[in-house]
Amino acid sequence: MTKANVRQLVVSLALVVAVFHAQSQAQSKPAADLIIQHAKIWTVDAANPTAQAVAVMRDRIVAVGGDADVESWRGPQTRVIDAAEKLVLPGFNDAHCHFLSGGFQLDAVDLNDATSAAEFARRIGERAKITPKGEWILAGNWDETKWTPAEFPTKELIDPLTQDVPVFVSRYDGHMGLANSAALRAAGITAQTVDPPGGVILRDAKGNPTGALKDAAQDVMLKAIPSLTTEQRLHLALRALAHAASLGVTSCQNMDNGDNQTYDDLKAFSQLQEQGKLTMRLYVAPSIVDWEDQAKIGVRHAFGSSFLRIGALKGYADGSLGARTAYFFEPFTDTPGNRGLLSGQIQPPSLMRDRMLKADAAGLQLCTHAIGDQGISIILDFYADIVKEHGPADRRFRIEHAQHMAVKDFDRFAQLAVIASMQPYHAIDDGRWAEKRIGHDRASRTYAFRTFLDHGVRLAFGTDWPVAPLNPMLGLYAAVTRATLDGKNPGGWFPEQKLTVAEAVRAYTMGSAYAEFQEIEKGSITPGKLADMVILSDDIFAIEPAKIRDVKVQKTFVGGKLVWDVDNVEPQAQQK
Ligand SMILES: [Zn+2]
Repeated sequence: MTKANVRQLVVSLALVVAVFHAQSQAQSKPAADLIIQHAKIWTVDAANPTAQAVAVMRDRIVAVGGDADVESWRGPQTRVIDAAEKLVLPGFNDAHCHFLSGGFQLDAVDLNDATSAAEFARRIGERAKITPKGEWILAGNWDETKWTPAEFPTKELIDPLTQDVPVFVSRYDGHMGLANSAALRAAGITAQTVDPPGGVILRDAKGNPTGALKDAAQDVMLKAIPSLTTEQRLHLALRALAHAASLGVTSCQNMDNGDNQTYDDLKAFSQLQEQGKLTMRLYVAPSIVDWEDQAKIGVRHAFGSSFLRIGALKGYADGSLGARTAYFFEPFTDTPGNRGLLSGQIQPPSLMRDRMLKADAAGLQLCTHAIGDQGISIILDFYADIVKEHGPADRRFRIEHAQHMAVKDFDRFAQLAVIASMQPYHAIDDGRWAEKRIGHDRASRTYAFRTFLDHGVRLAFGTDWPVAPLNPMLGLYAAVTRATLDGKNPGGWFPEQKLTVAEAVRAYTMGSAYAEFQEIEKGSITPGKLADMVILSDDIFAIEPAKIRDVKVQKTFVGGKLVWDVDNVEPQAQQK
């Protein structure tokens, strides 16, 4: 290009800019695509906590304020929704769910509310009659604490009703499963099979497997189960997405990882994103055992699009309280001599520590399941080692569940800026029997929401779906009332740990957004953020806390698009 040409180009560019500037001066403000007005908006934005109206352009919020302020964003094409003074909140962000397992559970035999072992067996028997040859009966979410006596089921209970149909049904916490004889044969588990590290094969008096497999012993069985096809995964994901939309869940942090399934799930999510069918935002955490997969291609925390991100790792310190595999400093009160079980991943502990250090160096976020007080303490030790060796950084360490805290560890939790990723529904579920298992003193630090907040620890709320229902109203209800499911603690189980509605909503929106490095993008109704919002049937700030569990989501918006409308239950969730 000659000098003259360059000069000419500069002049023409200047002209273009001038004309453009004049035009934009003459034009009025651009119009919103969506306005929600006449609403009671709780923004979860401390700078502007309440409002009447919100305007959205494309997928972002552009204005939040009084009806009159937002009116100026209305144009001829603007869709206007009259909220009729209903409560509007930011969309719920479930910080811990097992998304495709949840989808699977929607289709599976439901054993959770079976009130006796006989009913449990009957339901499995009915399912066996309609199960096509070659398919397994899986999932189920059984809970023997609802039976009398509350004993773990055995294969003898279901063998006569299932014959050659392989069965491996899970306890609701996922830390235990019951296999029938056909499944044990398929997996090659016999009286001679030794317990794998971190797992237990329950046996009868003669040493034969009862069919019940705890924690890592389940992995042997999982290897025998045919894995899902891509079509099955897509189907399950769409079912789960529609379910989430109907409940106002607009983001979910997926902690599902068994046997590399995460990558197959990720492929399905990725395909749905490409087709415009992802109606909820996902942050996916593959297993810490496979940390190198993400590290070697340079993925760091929160890498990806607004709909699908990776860069986190899910690890396990221990098992669950229900299966008596949570790892404690002192033995269970009702089973002396048993302190629980460290997970297979953490045996030996030095291996886990090493993985964590390397994963941190690669910029990956650590989300570690830890339930028993010593399980939590060991993970805090590792996190402290990371800070010591690698120096300070914005890491957002997480402990998933953080269920039973040692007194000494609340301060460490805060000092290391660890996020407590908790599921309030578990508190009203486990609260039915936790005290029997661990005694009063330890039970007083179970799901200690208030103590965490008092220590300045950040909370992120979720459900662990399908371990607990995906419905955020149940989580808010649980955090605010702590009323156990058996109705025995109407005033709250360890009521001093209750939260206010505002605190619980914050943990379920901003808290969860922070836990996935997305607090700039979502978590509150603030101009510039993604337009993920819900309209509720009732004002949860005004009604009696006991009624929060009955509140319904009337409309769900994700990126300004209506993905659930109670008045139009056609599957909008599958629209582009
Ligand atoms: Zn989980």
